[in-house]
Amino acid sequence: MGDIAVVGGGVIGLTCALRLAGEGHRVEVVSATGPADTVSAVAGGLWFPYRAAPADAVLRWGQVSLRRFAELARDPATGVAWREGVVLHRTPDPDLSWTAAVPDHRPATDLPPGVLSGLVCTLPVVTMPTYLAWLVQRCASAGVSFRSHEVARPAELPQDTVVVAAGLRSGDLLGDDTLVPVRGQVVRLANPGLTRWLVDDDNPAGLTYVIPRGDNVVCGGTADEGATDLTPSPEVEHAILARVHALVPSLAGAPVVSRAVGLRPVRPAVRVDRVERDGKVVISCYGHGGSGVTLSWGCAEDVVRLTGL
Ligand SMILES: Cc1cc2nc3c(=O)[nH]c(=O)nc-3n(C[C@H](O)[C@H](O)[C@H](O)COP(=O)(O)OP(=O)(O)OC[C@H]3O[C@@H](n4cnc5c(N)ncnc54)[C@H](O)[C@@H]3O)c2cc1C
Repeated sequence: MGDIAVVGGGVIGLTCALRLAGEGHRVEVVSATGPADTVSAVAGGLWFPYRAAPADAVLRWGQVSLRRFAELARDPATGVAWREGVVLHRTPDPDLSWTAAVPDHRPATDLPPGVLSGLVCTLPVVTMPTYLAWLVQRCASAGVSFRSHEVARPAELPQDTVVVAAGLRSGDLLGDDTLVPVRGQVVRLANPGLTRWLVDDDNPAGLTYVIPRGDNVVCGGTADEGATDLTPSPEVEHAILARVHALVPSLAGAPVVSRAVGLRPVRPAVRVDRVERDGKVVISCYGHGGSGVTLSWGCAEDVVRLTGL
């Protein structure tokens, strides 16, 4: 078992670090920011494949994560819960490839105006601040060390094996210019007692989702390709809330708790591979788009396998 550096302390880096430590490796997470200042902290936390490819690998990774989240949901300290909700469709031929990973789903019966069909199913909902803190704590218990540092090149790290899990910034480290930021804005409302989530991603007025997570409800969203402004826009928030209120009237009047913007690391295909450069083994694990939480355990599994080649 060797020394491994994991560059990145978001959901991908932390999950990889935990799995690698579980295999007996000595792991150091090197991260420019703390977990609260990552895109992962902004995620709604619903298990749902969105803006990630290729479809077959996404399904395989997602299935591994589903199984792991099922185990984690038994312990409330993880921040993982299983909740019923609905995916709404406004086109006659929606992409249902993800349902192969979700055995129990049924047609929705009570559809809002303009919605052609819907699927009711039970999926993991992850309260990200709680979950990221849990991952950090589990990593520390497994012997993972943490260093706050901005890495310029994998070659600068002393370890022989480097896992690059730096999200959108991974391309800078590896000379990969295929990553594109896809800006997402959310507003979190005080939860009036909702438990059911809702996804309406082909809403003609804009991507819409509602994800209750304990005492707050994450409401979104946007998906602006190439946009990089990290300041929440009041106009965008107003439009999100109008769409949300139309679908979930009980949220009208719920106080705003917080607001956030994150840049999804979108790539033509999620990159999980191994190359040798500058005398090191470099394993990439980035480009998870809008599905980093959804794919995290499956991708970490592949990273473990790649370290053993
Ligand atoms: C609004 C929104 C909602 C979302 N909702 C969901 C959802 O419901 N479900 C889902 O599955 N996904 C969702 N996502 C997508 C998900 O958030 C991302 O896919 C995921 O966070 C990517 O994780 P990551 O660890 O690769 O990147 P990040 O979380 O961005 O972490 C990157 C890490 O790398 C570090 N880093 C970067 N560069 C360097 C460097 N040079 N040196 C050292 N460290 C470095 C950073 O400090 C950070 O720790 C959503 C995203 C957004 C924006």
